Amino acid sequence: MKIEFKKIPQDKKEFSTSLNSVKIEGTFCRISSSLVKIEANLIGNIETDCSRCGTLKTLDINEELKLLLCDGVFKGDEDEFLVIEIENSLIDFDEIIQSEVNSIKSDYLLCGNCETNDSLFEQEF
Ligand SMILES: [Zn+2]
Repeated sequence: MKIEFKKIPQDKKEFSTSLNSVKIEGTFCRISSSLVKIEANLIGNIETDCSRCGTLKTLDINEELKLLLCDGVFKGDEDEFLVIEIENSLIDFDEIIQSEVNSIKSDYLLCGNCETNDSLFEQEF
């Protein structure tokens, strides 16, 4: 889903959009002429590789997303929200989902087998 920046309402509005097996569900609102706030959850499942043995694993995700979309260059400090600068005044939710999925995939993650081996290993010492 793509949506023009100026079409985001100033009042909080519920939205939901999905890409493949992952969806974003929550609210968005425009808090200034160049800032949109998104409070949502990233829900679904993604396939990723075990960091140790490479086995494909399906991961159920349900992560809180707090995003601040800035139309142009963001000038300011923000701790609570993740700031994403967008171009052409167009918000591309597919791209946002994709980048969140990629960042989850790049995390260190063990499959069930390796996790079990890990705890066995710890018990021996
Ligand atoms: Zn593994």
